[in-house]
Amino acid sequence: MPASLRPGLERRLRREISGEVLFDRFSRGRYATDASHYQMTPLGVVVPRTMDEAAAALAAAREEGVPVTARGGGTSQCGQTINEGLIIDGSKHLTRILTFDVEERRCVVEPGIVLDELNRCLKPHGLWFPVDISTASRATIGGMAGNNSCGGRSLRYGTMRDNVIAIDAILPDGSSMHFGDVKAGQAQSVPEQMAIDPVVRATGNSTSSHASLIAKLLAIGKREADEVAARFPRVQRRVGGYNLDALMPNMPSHNLAHLLVGSEGTLAYFTAVELKLWPVLGKRALGACHFGSFHEAMDAAQHLVTLEPIAVELVDATMLALAREIAMFRPILDRFVKGEPEALLLVEFAESEAVNAQRLKELHALMGDLGFGWDRERRKWGGVIDVIDPRLQAAIADLRTSGLNIMMSMKTEGKPVSFIEDCAVPLPELAEYTSRLTEIFERHGTRGTWYAHASEGCLHVRPILNLKLEQDVRTMRAIAEEAFALVRDFKGSHSGEHGDGILRSEFHEMMFGQRLGRAFAQVKDAFDPKDLMNPGKIVRAPHFDDRALLRYSPAYHAEAFAPVLDWSDYPGGAGGLLGAAEMCNNNGACRKLAGGAMCPSYRATRDEQHVTRGRANVLRLALSGQLGRDALASDDMAESLKLCVSCKACRRECPTGVDMARMKIEVQAARVKTRGLSIFDRLVGPLPHYAPLAARLAWLLNLRDRLPGAATVSQALAGLAAERALPAWRSDIFSEGAAAVGADGGREVVLFCDTFNRYFERENIDAALAICEAGGYRVHLPKSADRARRPLCCGRTYLSTGQVDKARAEMRRCLEAFAPFISRGVPIIGLEPSCLLTFRDEAPALVGGMVAKSIATNAMLLEEYLIAERDAGRLSLDLVPAAGRALLHTHCHQKAFGIDDTVAAALRLIPGLELEVVDSSCCGMAGSFGYRAETISVSKAMGELSLLPAVRAADAATVIVADGTSCRHQIADLAGRRAVHVARVLANHLAAKAKVGDLVSRNKLDGVNPGPP
Ligand SMILES: Cc1cc2nc3c(=O)[nH]c(=O)nc-3n(C[C@H](O)[C@H](O)[C@H](O)COP(=O)(O)OP(=O)(O)OC[C@H]3O[C@@H](n4cnc5c(N)ncnc54)[C@H](O)[C@@H]3O)c2cc1C
Ligand code: SF4
Ligand code: SF4
Repeated sequence: MPASLRPGLERRLRREISGEVLFDRFSRGRYATDASHYQMTPLGVVVPRTMDEAAAALAAAREEGVPVTARGGGTSQCGQTINEGLIIDGSKHLTRILTFDVEERRCVVEPGIVLDELNRCLKPHGLWFPVDISTASRATIGGMAGNNSCGGRSLRYGTMRDNVIAIDAILPDGSSMHFGDVKAGQAQSVPEQMAIDPVVRATGNSTSSHASLIAKLLAIGKREADEVAARFPRVQRRVGGYNLDALMPNMPSHNLAHLLVGSEGTLAYFTAVELKLWPVLGKRALGACHFGSFHEAMDAAQHLVTLEPIAVELVDATMLALAREIAMFRPILDRFVKGEPEALLLVEFAESEAVNAQRLKELHALMGDLGFGWDRERRKWGGVIDVIDPRLQAAIADLRTSGLNIMMSMKTEGKPVSFIEDCAVPLPELAEYTSRLTEIFERHGTRGTWYAHASEGCLHVRPILNLKLEQDVRTMRAIAEEAFALVRDFKGSHSGEHGDGILRSEFHEMMFGQRLGRAFAQVKDAFDPKDLMNPGKIVRAPHFDDRALLRYSPAYHAEAFAPVLDWSDYPGGAGGLLGAAEMCNNNGACRKLAGGAMCPSYRATRDEQHVTRGRANVLRLALSGQLGRDALASDDMAESLKLCVSCKACRRECPTGVDMARMKIEVQAARVKTRGLSIFDRLVGPLPHYAPLAARLAWLLNLRDRLPGAATVSQALAGLAAERALPAWRSDIFSEGAAAVGADGGREVVLFCDTFNRYFERENIDAALAICEAGGYRVHLPKSADRARRPLCCGRTYLSTGQVDKARAEMRRCLEAFAPFISRGVPIIGLEPSCLLTFRDEAPALVGGMVAKSIATNAMLLEEYLIAERDAGRLSLDLVPAAGRALLHTHCHQKAFGIDDTVAAALRLIPGLELEVVDSSCCGMAGSFGYRAETISVSKAMGELSLLPAVRAADAATVIVADGTSCRHQIADLAGRRAVHVARVLANHLAAKAKVGDLVSRNKLDGVNPGPP
């Protein structure tokens, strides 16, 4: 990646803009891709704080002759959000709702607001913006308008174009203009109507130039009316080219905003978008139509839409099979899938309950009329299963996404590639179209899975190709040309949802004809004669298979790099690490701002640098030599990963399974190798080594938080945040006396006593022992077999500081000690999620071999074990009822492994306990992260996102439960409440407390204190 810069432009932007001005290689690399397979490195990036700053950036670029590309969430699939000029990212700051009229059901928003955020604000008023695209959690209204996006319910609500009332925009000449509805015959007065109180005052806000622009546009519309009528596909899903049909003569009015919708940033920069709002959807009913033949299903779609559903979504047999492989989805499939269908069409109604019921009845009748029956032969086998329960409806939606995610997460060089994925054809042609497209795939030796919007004739399908190979790039062109010709013959749209960008624009002349191709160019030139707005998109586009523009260009290669962990599950260079980084396809799910836990650092900063995607991108670029020498160990790379708290949320929630926490270990190890350890890391890493001595010198070490000024000195010398109290050392640590405790002959378990609970909160270990003893278990407490006699440790602190060899040594000690138990199938249970789950997650990648693999399946948290025992009918714990309430925060690693519900289930073993679970992401402490002076402010911000407000809102009698040591510290430090481990809550309710009375009273378990620490 060349380090070509425009110092003049950069200096000017820095002078005039208080938002971020990013011209460094890493930042430019982060903005070089969107969710397409293209890569274009921009000159620089601006993240304006205000619309005035956006205008200033546009002005600076214009005066320097540098083209500009507007960017929202960067989730475009066709390359429309990348270019070589200046990128203006509005998604961080330009996010306000400017006006909101509940009565009129309208609002005006800045372009950077994310759809889900907008809908969260509208919901209390019973309204929503219904263009419900799959990327609603991160796509912005500006980007949606730019692409003319379409949601799953477009059958009822139409596309963006149908829901945008007006757009205020800055034109390429710097003037600002209001684009809205203009009555026919008022074209002469249009400029006054459209003159707005400029959001920005740039160069010449000339009404005469606006008048001339409008006149030119209407003239193009008038001239091309017949051609538009003849060549524009008559399907709702036509988002390709410019919307010339908005300029047709003989219309009662022209809404010129509709010409801007779908213009992909090539005509003007949107500063405000006025939207039409709708009442929220009421109760829904789903009819799952089963088909024994895919072709028959496609043919049926045209008939099913006559019942006026809000959506008809396809799930094919491959997707069903993928979902069936996931244990949690099998029972859901059992509830609504009958037999072995080749395809399901999920027909959704959203009327009143009575009407929904009536429509379902009609659906059954219609399927019968079409000749389908459960007793018919394969081709006509089928029928309807009603799904009324909203929870099942939600589970089905979840299942569809997960099946798709599995498809997207293939760890092979060949990947499902999106290039013909949103062609749309008229519904009567759907069956024939899908059959012939399947033949095209087969002819080219590939295949695809079909899904999505059957009701609009817009089915998603991605052939599997390896775009690193020239042969596969050629196959991509061949399939595209044949598929688009097919679509044209069916009078369909080659660009039916995702827009044009680099991917589709080349084909506009083929699809719309040369004459309309020229008309598109005239529209562009009327707005932007100097080609300064997102050039090369929609008109004058490069070849879509120009390999120089691909993310994997012919020059793409893996740098020599030997990873410290095992990445052999992935293909490609750097021992598979490059393949792991390439798993990020930039879909942007990690940019969601609510729900789930990914990605806490992004939620706190809203910076592309601090989101999983931004990190994966720079890792890919570094490992493929595009960021210069030693980029992996560089300061820029360290900075890119600095705020990653290794919460592992991405491992679970990223649709393609990008595991940044594990990749961060590689980066830290590379840095330690070339730069050595910081003083902070020298203190944190060897904690398990010096802890025995520290416990003996507890009084001395704890002076850091008692002697005035000592904390400040520790910050200056070692980077330990002065405002944080450190966990207090104590001399009464836990140490194993006997090799095993509990009933002889009881079911055996091994209790792994981690470093944190052993040295800082032994009460948790004591409580776990009390529970196991009360349950009649035999608990083994193995010791290290080596000469050191030092307690066992999983090596977490070494891993988190990039000292992988030392972590490996710790892991080997554990495996040696546990091996005899593992070979007998004795479960290893533990208390601290981040430690115990190291056995499940990193152990195989660290040490390999059978024992590591077995421990990965044998290790479980105490609460998981208890719930597994309960489910097997073996748990016998006599717990006294509770009268109170508990508030539960689960550790990120519990969430990442999908076992957070077992903590809640374990607490629910206590009769009468009222339980609330905080919908939280990472607590922000994340091991040593919250203790670092350089990251403490982000640590606090993460905690404040949801956890700390929920804790503060809980009344003093509520018991706060958190299994993570760090989580408990964060809660104590910032919310002034003492949180406790689930083991202590359970132990506190043991009816047989008297029998384990010594233990309990010694540790004051009765006094699990909900008040301040
Ligand atoms: C997994 C996945 C699923 C998807 N599902 C759907 C779907 O269901 N329906 C659908 O329609 N699309 C879908 N898309 C495509 C994409 O998410 C949408 O097009 C989305 O609306 C883009 O929003 P964004 O904020 O990411 O825009 P970006 O990608 O950032 O930008 C989109 C275009 O708008 C322009 N733009 C952005 N801001 C402005 C501005 N202020 N002024 C002028 N132009 C601007 C940009 O230059 C660009 O050309 C999907 C994509 C992925 C990866
Ligand atoms: S990291 Fe995962 S969620 Fe984020 S953009 Fe990449 S693939 Fe999508
Ligand atoms: S591990 Fe957590 S903080 Fe790091 S990238 Fe993944 S989700 Fe973000």
